[in-house]
Amino acid sequence: MSRHHRDRSWAPDPEPLPEGIGVIDDHTHMASVVPFAQEMDRQARERGQDPVPVRTVDQQLERARAVGVVGAIDVGCELPHLQTAVDLALAHPGVVHAALAIHPNEAVLHGHRGVPGPDGLPLKYQPWHEVSFEQALEEVARLARAYPDQVVAIGETGMDLFRTGQGAEEIQRQAFRDHIALAKELDLPMQIHDRDAHRQVIETLLEDGAPERTIFHSYSGDAGMAQVAAEHGWYLSFSGTVSYKGNEGIRQALSVVGMDHIMVETDAPYLSPMPYRGRTNSPYMIPYTLRAMADALDRPLAQVAEATAATTRRVYGL
Ligand SMILES: [Zn+2]
Repeated sequence: MSRHHRDRSWAPDPEPLPEGIGVIDDHTHMASVVPFAQEMDRQARERGQDPVPVRTVDQQLERARAVGVVGAIDVGCELPHLQTAVDLALAHPGVVHAALAIHPNEAVLHGHRGVPGPDGLPLKYQPWHEVSFEQALEEVARLARAYPDQVVAIGETGMDLFRTGQGAEEIQRQAFRDHIALAKELDLPMQIHDRDAHRQVIETLLEDGAPERTIFHSYSGDAGMAQVAAEHGWYLSFSGTVSYKGNEGIRQALSVVGMDHIMVETDAPYLSPMPYRGRTNSPYMIPYTLRAMADALDRPLAQVAEATAATTRRVYGL
């Protein structure tokens, strides 16, 4: 599909999940969905397509609830978004929870220590990158301590060797280590971002000792890596990528860790599930991903939805 013909509208609402399960989107960025939809709207108008309504966070939550997605863990992983995630949780008690960290690609930008990665994109320093990584992480720790009822996880942290070049690999690894230490100190679950860094992430977890509740967000490994996760009791959270054609390895991983170690997420506004890849993602899209998971597992949708709901509540203490 060419950029020009891209469909920028919202995907239709999925069929609601069976009543009474109460699924939770375990990793999302709802505040980022708003500017993302604004950009879709701008592009659509520019090309003479129908305007795209911009949904507020409240509207996103309402739409999610209507299809059986009753809660979300909103991830703030850039210094200016930490407080935003906490504020969302404060505004929606019992519905929105916060996870906080300095994203691996942000960690190297703090103090201007970035190195361009294989993705070929130029480095783009923002004003908040003048702040040292240590100071930025201190803000994560401060908010986590100040809002224990709202902040339910440290994340997303980890390593990303697609966007960050080898020259900064060790800086990124050290930032990951600091997050591991913080999660353990605060006794919080930790959500991992692992992009093209399976070996490095596992190595680091084993060297330092993983937090008791360790979750691979938008799991991108194969069945072999899932075997390692199973041995250590780590959790896998699946995004829309589980539904993409080439991702047989991700689908095979589902059955390796067991039904009590899988969760579901959107990672909105990105990674929309099939058949709506490329559209704006938001928590109401979760049932599509659960359907793909149920198909891969060859189990009833309700059973898979229930398993993810129970695991998410247990792991984050919701
Ligand atoms: Zn994310």
